[in-house]
Amino acid sequence: MSGATRHYIPGVAAFIIFALRSGEPSMRLLVLSDVHANATALEAALAASANRWEQVICLGDVIGYGPDPNEVADRLRALAPAIIRGNHDRAATHPEEMEDFNPVARKAIEWTRDQLRPDNLSWLAQLPPGPLEAHGVILVHGAYQDEDQYVHSPAHALDSILASPQPITFFGHTHYQGGFSYRHERLDLIHMRPPADASFAALRLDAAARYLLNPGSIGQPRDGDPRAAFAIADLDHGIIEFWRVRYDIKSVQDRMARAGAPEALIERLAFGR
Ligand code: ZN
Repeated sequence: MSGATRHYIPGVAAFIIFALRSGEPSMRLLVLSDVHANATALEAALAASANRWEQVICLGDVIGYGPDPNEVADRLRALAPAIIRGNHDRAATHPEEMEDFNPVARKAIEWTRDQLRPDNLSWLAQLPPGPLEAHGVILVHGAYQDEDQYVHSPAHALDSILASPQPITFFGHTHYQGGFSYRHERLDLIHMRPPADASFAALRLDAAARYLLNPGSIGQPRDGDPRAAFAIADLDHGIIEFWRVRYDIKSVQDRMARAGAPEALIERLAFGR
């Protein structure tokens, strides 16, 4: 058999696979979490990510803290994401479950409930708790086993990674962008924050690893970077982009002040803490 013949069949096979792949719709997920009624930050994130995704997933805490609960609920409902509730969404619609909230968060929830239109309150009330499987990934707000658990430590991360039925689980609640990977019985912290002069940092997924990933918070980042945080997951190519975009923080602070929000909530937006 000549060299040319030997290479002919694999060449055709490769071409067919390429043709099939390029004919499939690609599947990129916009991953949103902890929008917290900050419409300005959400709009900045949607503008920056335009034409870069096909589906939206949202990890909860649509409302709470921010000044725009109806605007954010309307916008998310229009995006029709796969979505779970966060603890703030639950508290706004089940006031009897607010005992875990500190006075500042409680005041924000009470204000939010007064603002929300009945249709948005009903929509928030029917959001399911995590875990939810959508588009081949798992959505949780806190930990896999407990939606209120903050996953900061490797021990908590490992519990969620081992419990999840899929290799990629997205979580929120901490408002810290990044996450954890687990391979060959080794857990690693993933620190993927784009520098100040970059819009995103990309993580290449290892097919042998399992991941617990946090897109960060759109509306109230707490990891020291005040820019709105989100992620874009390109599952076909095994790449997760961790994004940060600037938005007009001052305009949000002004609306919060007019709504009588506590000073501490207004100020923290500028520091991302
Ligand atoms: Zn939150």
